[in-house]
Amino acid sequence: MSKVKAITTDAPTGGAVYGDFELPDPEHYSAKLKTIYNGICGTDRGMVAGALPFAYNPEGYKRLVLGHEALAQVVEIEKNEFGIRSGDYVVPIVRRPGKCVNCRIGRMDNCTDGDKHEAGITGMHGFMREYFYDTPENLVKVQDNSILDVAVLAEPLKNVEKAFEVFNKISERSIFLNDFGTYEDKKAVIIGTGSEAFLYSFFARDYGFDTILTNRHPIPDQKTVMVDKSGVEFYDYTKDMDKILEGGIDLLIDTSGHPGTIFQFIRKLNHNGITILFGTNGKAPATDVDGADIDYLIENNITLMGSVDGAREHYFKALEHLRNWRHNYGDIMKDLITKKIPPSDVEIFSNKPGDEIKTIIDWSKA
Ligand code: NAP
Ligand code: ZN
Repeated sequence: MSKVKAITTDAPTGGAVYGDFELPDPEHYSAKLKTIYNGICGTDRGMVAGALPFAYNPEGYKRLVLGHEALAQVVEIEKNEFGIRSGDYVVPIVRRPGKCVNCRIGRMDNCTDGDKHEAGITGMHGFMREYFYDTPENLVKVQDNSILDVAVLAEPLKNVEKAFEVFNKISERSIFLNDFGTYEDKKAVIIGTGSEAFLYSFFARDYGFDTILTNRHPIPDQKTVMVDKSGVEFYDYTKDMDKILEGGIDLLIDTSGHPGTIFQFIRKLNHNGITILFGTNGKAPATDVDGADIDYLIENNITLMGSVDGAREHYFKALEHLRNWRHNYGDIMKDLITKKIPPSDVEIFSNKPGDEIKTIIDWSKA
């Protein structure tokens, strides 16, 4: 057994503790990794609050190491077909395969039997620890070290990559483009202003959509600067719903998980409109949906699509996007990281800073 500094919880009860955690030394391992950064997201906070009943500790453990968003450096690795060497920086993959056919072809994001595990969430220790062991097929190499400061965003961004892959397939069912064969003048509305919402907004903007972020309150200055620099718009829908709905909506992306809010916007989707349901909030209250709403969806060929997680290929695409955005938009991507904290600062799980886009745990501060 070895003691490793880690942030642990008792899933699904909750709580967060930073300190020495005992883990068995592996008899054999193919890669040893040193954690550089962890991102904190709503799932981590939900687990610490005891609000995610599907989370569970690994078999034989009373606690679970938190963390699914990470950048790590390879300390030691055996020769492998992925070209990963000691000293390389890597992003570890969150989902690990179960036995279903999708898992067997590397698409654990589309797992059909629920037998997969998720690091730091369901039955597998996560990456909020000073070092961990893994296998090369679960590591994605960061090819360009100039994006190491933002590479930890590859995990949340890979979800967006997958959602747009599904969007691409759906948008082919009819002509969804303008007269010039592009998405310019088409409108994308994104509900929420957290890190996933901002990543979605960069993506939609790059597609050519007029892109609007919205929330039920104004946003802090730091986020306004971000919105201005990235060429999208923000409106508080409790005050400026008219501006958001002018000309209707072609692509609606929800990161709030709030049905009452989502349906206010769904009713304004244009013909052949597409909704990406992404945010999850099992505690959100019910909302009324009547026959007229269903008629509206049908008569207008509206698609509601859910999308979860992403596969190895989406991690690659995410790193490539981070690289392009660094080139095109400079430090904007870095501004998404609003705070860097030491791992001992576990209060962060219960107190979300008001101006937070993404808080990062910096293990060099341990
Ligand atoms: P986040 O920072 O908590 O983002 C949620 C955003 O929704 C916040 O900006 C929040 O606003 C806003 N919001 C909440 N209720 C709202 C309402 N009624 N109207 C408008 N906006 C509302 O979390 P995140 O990390 O960006 O993730 C977004 C969501 O996606 C979370 O629910 C997360 O669990 C989920 N998620 C899904 C996947 C997937 O694969 N599908 C993967 C990762 C995460 P304020 O907090 O500012 O009030
Ligand atoms: Zn599976």
